[in-house]
Amino acid sequence: MYICAMKPRIKWRNFKIWIKDQFKRKTWFRNFFITGNAWGGFSINSHINQHTGQPKITYNHFESAQKAAEKMGKKHNTHFSIYKCLYCDGYHIGKNRDNKTEYDKNGS
Ligand SMILES: [Zn+2]
Repeated sequence: MYICAMKPRIKWRNFKIWIKDQFKRKTWFRNFFITGNAWGGFSINSHINQHTGQPKITYNHFESAQKAAEKMGKKHNTHFSIYKCLYCDGYHIGKNRDNKTEYDKNGS
């Protein structure tokens, strides 16, 4: 397996977008202070697929990620959430238990 010598690092210019994305959620208080799920965004696992070690599929816009999440959700009959990545300029989607950020299921 190829291991990249350059470890991805948090891009602080993404932090503003990330925090906005977090506070858009109706469950933000719970995510930060009760479940602590929101802090998962600081983990490299929010950008890297733990199984493959490769970066997750990146969507440049929230809207395109949302469309993909809807499609995947229908296909797998489960809820996929969208989150802003701190490590790259895009968004990722994932199942709640994977990315540890629960997007409000009632919509944004
Ligand atoms: Zn990323």
